[in-house]
Amino acid sequence: MKIAILGAMSEEIEPILEAVGEYKTTRYADNNYYEASYKGLDLVIAYSKIGKVFSSLSAAVLIEHFGCEKLLFSGVAGAITPTLKIGDIVIASKLAQHDLDITVFGHPYGYVPEGSVFVEADRELNLLAHSIAKDLGIEVVEGVIATGDQFVADETRRSFIERTFKADALEMEGASVAVVCHSLGVPFFILRSISDAADMEAGFSFDEFLKSSAEVSAKFVLAMVDRLGR
Ligand code: SAH
Repeated sequence: MKIAILGAMSEEIEPILEAVGEYKTTRYADNNYYEASYKGLDLVIAYSKIGKVFSSLSAAVLIEHFGCEKLLFSGVAGAITPTLKIGDIVIASKLAQHDLDITVFGHPYGYVPEGSVFVEADRELNLLAHSIAKDLGIEVVEGVIATGDQFVADETRRSFIERTFKADALEMEGASVAVVCHSLGVPFFILRSISDAADMEAGFSFDEFLKSSAEVSAKFVLAMVDRLGR
């Protein structure tokens, strides 16, 4: 089976590249894709660059060009739910684009005609994550992830996203990857480890915890790969 592992920033996939050891680098559509054999699986690993457009492009390339059959996203996010602390793991039940707004025409936030506000993540991959978390004695929170092309470091925006989408965490790539995978019929899994609380301190917190939280996320995604390979 061929599995895509996608992050947004180099810090998010470095621990994965380190773990796989040897890989082949292919340049395609202005980005690098790293192909490796790992635990009996074919992996294609990449970081897309930040935001919805680049992450959509990479997800489409991983599926259409490299032929990946499942996609696992590893990265960091801002917490909305107050009980979520730095380094905690959130997996998406469903995802929405919080900055998609044609509400002036009477549509809900996050909706465009022929689309849907939420895209649901793959149930089986989420169940697998819960089972791994149990085995490892780690707590994993399953919840709504909201995505938009903005780094949220502002209480007003954060509470708008919480109210409107009942979101537990927010970031800049999950929902766009979800739309691509859903449209192309590829099961996907979005995992994020908390780097900040999307508040006034978020920029500092992000800089301080990006590396450690990205490692938490990558480690868990590697455990997923381990189990998928059995
Ligand atoms: N410091 C980086 C920019 C990081 S943007 C630079 O200068 O290049 C934030 C990244 O982490 C995005 O990929 C996003 O998915 C995630 N993220 C973490 N906290 C976030 C927040 N509070 N708001 C939006 N995205 C966040």
